Amino acid sequence: MHFIDVILPIPLPKLFTYSITEAEAGFLKPGMRVSVPFGKAKIYTALVFNIHGNEPLVYDAKEIHQILDDEVVVTEKQLEHWQWISEYYMCTLGDVMRASLPNAFLLESETVISKNYDVTIDEADLKDDEFLIYEALLHQTSLKIHDIVSILNKKNVLPLIKSLLDKQVILVEEEIYEKYKPKLVRYVKLHSKFSSEKNLQDLLEDLSRAPKQREVVLTLFSLSAQIKKPIKVSELTEKSNTSSAIIKSLIDKNILEEYFVQTDRVQYSGDENNPLKQLNEPQKIAFQEIKSSFETYNITLLHGVTSSGKTEIYVKLIEEVIAQGKQVLYLLPEIALTTQLVNRLQDYFGEKVAVFHSKYSSHERVEVWNHVLNNSPKAQIVLGARSSVFLPFNNLGLVIVDEEHESSYKQFDPAPRYHARDTAIVLAHLFNCKTLLGSATPSIESYYNTKLKKYGLVELTTRYNDVLMPDIELVDIKDKQKRKRMTGHFSDRLIEEMTETLKEGHQIILFQNRRGFSPIVECQTCGHSPQCPNCDVSLTYHQYKDELRCHYCGYHSVMIKTCEACGSVDLDNKGFGTEQVQEEVSTLFPEYKVARMDLDTTRGKYGYEKIITSFEQKEVDILVGTQMLTKGLDFRHVKLVGIMNADNMLNFPDFRAHERSFQLMLQVSGRAGRTEERGKVIIQTYNPYHNILQQVSTNAYQKMYEEQMEERRNFKYPPLYRLIKITIKHRNYNMVNVASDWYAKSLRIVFKTDILGPEFPAVSRIRNQFIKHIIVKIPPKQSVSKTKEAIIKINNSFFAVKDFRAVRVILNVDNY
Ligand code: ADP
Ligand code: ZN
Ligand code: ZN
Repeated sequence: MHFIDVILPIPLPKLFTYSITEAEAGFLKPGMRVSVPFGKAKIYTALVFNIHGNEPLVYDAKEIHQILDDEVVVTEKQLEHWQWISEYYMCTLGDVMRASLPNAFLLESETVISKNYDVTIDEADLKDDEFLIYEALLHQTSLKIHDIVSILNKKNVLPLIKSLLDKQVILVEEEIYEKYKPKLVRYVKLHSKFSSEKNLQDLLEDLSRAPKQREVVLTLFSLSAQIKKPIKVSELTEKSNTSSAIIKSLIDKNILEEYFVQTDRVQYSGDENNPLKQLNEPQKIAFQEIKSSFETYNITLLHGVTSSGKTEIYVKLIEEVIAQGKQVLYLLPEIALTTQLVNRLQDYFGEKVAVFHSKYSSHERVEVWNHVLNNSPKAQIVLGARSSVFLPFNNLGLVIVDEEHESSYKQFDPAPRYHARDTAIVLAHLFNCKTLLGSATPSIESYYNTKLKKYGLVELTTRYNDVLMPDIELVDIKDKQKRKRMTGHFSDRLIEEMTETLKEGHQIILFQNRRGFSPIVECQTCGHSPQCPNCDVSLTYHQYKDELRCHYCGYHSVMIKTCEACGSVDLDNKGFGTEQVQEEVSTLFPEYKVARMDLDTTRGKYGYEKIITSFEQKEVDILVGTQMLTKGLDFRHVKLVGIMNADNMLNFPDFRAHERSFQLMLQVSGRAGRTEERGKVIIQTYNPYHNILQQVSTNAYQKMYEEQMEERRNFKYPPLYRLIKITIKHRNYNMVNVASDWYAKSLRIVFKTDILGPEFPAVSRIRNQFIKHIIVKIPPKQSVSKTKEAIIKINNSFFAVKDFRAVRVILNVDNY
């Protein structure tokens, strides 16, 4: 008798066993896919985990339907890695498999839908239910079928989805990817009728009265003779020193033929590799220090100020590793994975660089997957976002985690709720290779690990080219208000600096940590703010459409004219967002061009790229944006950065708020003065004496670290204590209370202290689901794995209670 245990792409706590024939047992290997029957009538793609001869005790093993692979698609190392993820992050192997494999590998993967941005929708054409979904998709990039079931509170939603598809309102996932528009490059060649010597001579004669056109034809002829490769229009324009109008007239006359070639972002078609840059002295020292640190530590943190040239150091390390034929994983937060950086790496390493992120089509991802699996030179360096830790490396030689402090490395939803940095470190460990973490503002936990001597530490304190760190000035807006020195949200100091910067022809970045126009409407008479009927949250005002919206569920209504509670017309827009900053700037500096970068303006696949490019090309003088601006962008001409209001970051109710504010402000500041001239940063605040602001203005990372550690120690927070957040969700308010009380009580019986909650979060109802949190704090001496075991036991008994079956419980380890 032969059996296989398989991972099914559904959250089953255990592996499932199927029976196979002797021949199948001889052929199958762990990491191959099989299709299997499951439940009453379902068929799934499953992954073989192991092959054995032990019949399951409690059920009859069914036979598999089919073997789907000739070779493994998932390596043994990956299976080992998956097991770690599933144990550490308290999720099932099925969860990990679903996150890891490209959708194309799982035939019946859950359908994901998103809004179709290419079609203008007449909202009047939509039925009520349809409209709700359309609305929800304006605020979330995608929804799964089961989200739709819960938004509409009805089971059979497939007909509705079909109708939305027919109306082209939505796209299902595979279609989104098909819509990937490749970048086209315009080429020209001489029309084929001039390929004979004679005809060409005639043509040149004909053109003797049009010397400019003649010159173009001659140049094209000699270019094609020299290099046997297609000639870009731009190249021809430049080499023949002509205008695009002349080229166009030649095309119109059928003398030249234009054609387009798709330049794939995955494939690189560049010429020779550019030589690496020479490191300067401080970089050389850091490079050597990293290498000697690696002799002692598997993990090293490179703490290098913004624009110190960390990327060039990574490049040197990469060069050495690939020379040994090994693979490199270079992790970046999704949003920092810009063409800017991709191009920079491809300039050095050409087609050895493969890019992997969620915006790529299923097809492209399968391609990268296979290159990595087969150790192909085409993906020797993987530049990827969070999910690239799941690629099937087999000869990994180095992991780089850039911007390691970024909280977006942690996945919130769905499971596995993994942290990509930590998961990558474990991956590197499986390959016995080194990990380099890099940041200008390291996370407290990584820095703490260097203090514990778990990680090595290398510091780089000067900017490349010896440009000074920007001069940071704190502006007290309370005082400015008193003395009537504010114009809208701009202090006189900020306006002065802006005026001067613009006059010198430099660019400006303005940072405001909020999106929308002025989020909350408040009645000046009674203090009431309009609330979302489905979620426990105030509605946000969107000026563009003059309406109120909920950012959680997509509910919207027209902007109210009078207070719903007391009828007063005295409504005020409290707070302000990027939209309002942009508007005020346009009034203050009407002769300059302003652009905005936030979630609203960067929708669609290339929205973000477009704004970056136009700012880079100096088509825009002033860029207003949210934290999207902070992510490792390398702009050359930014001299001034203005932080409109530092306080709303500092006041955010989270134990990491101060750390985050520090990181965010220094990162945004780092966008100023990256080349020759020293940059200037103006931070507007009501609390200029706040410790964090003092530390930001003096770039005092150490001080910030020590002070934050003190607080974390006092209040028992990470990195000293570890946290597991348990979220309880249900439609019924009482049920959430009863269930979470039961859960917390059981935890307290086992752990006595260090259990927080249950408590309602700030937004305690989302999409008609009430939410309560319980936090388990794990003291430094308590075993993390024992704690998790105990939680799993409690969780199992919880679900054994009949009333609690419909309650959702989410376990989030190292919650961020
Ligand atoms: P960081 O990653 O530390 O913010 P970068 O690696 O982006 O810094 O470097 C900042 C700028 O300085 C980039 O434009 C980069 O091209 C340039 N630069 C860094 N090191 C060198 C070097 N050794 N030679 C030439 N230019 C360099
Ligand atoms: Zn009122
Ligand atoms: Zn809502």
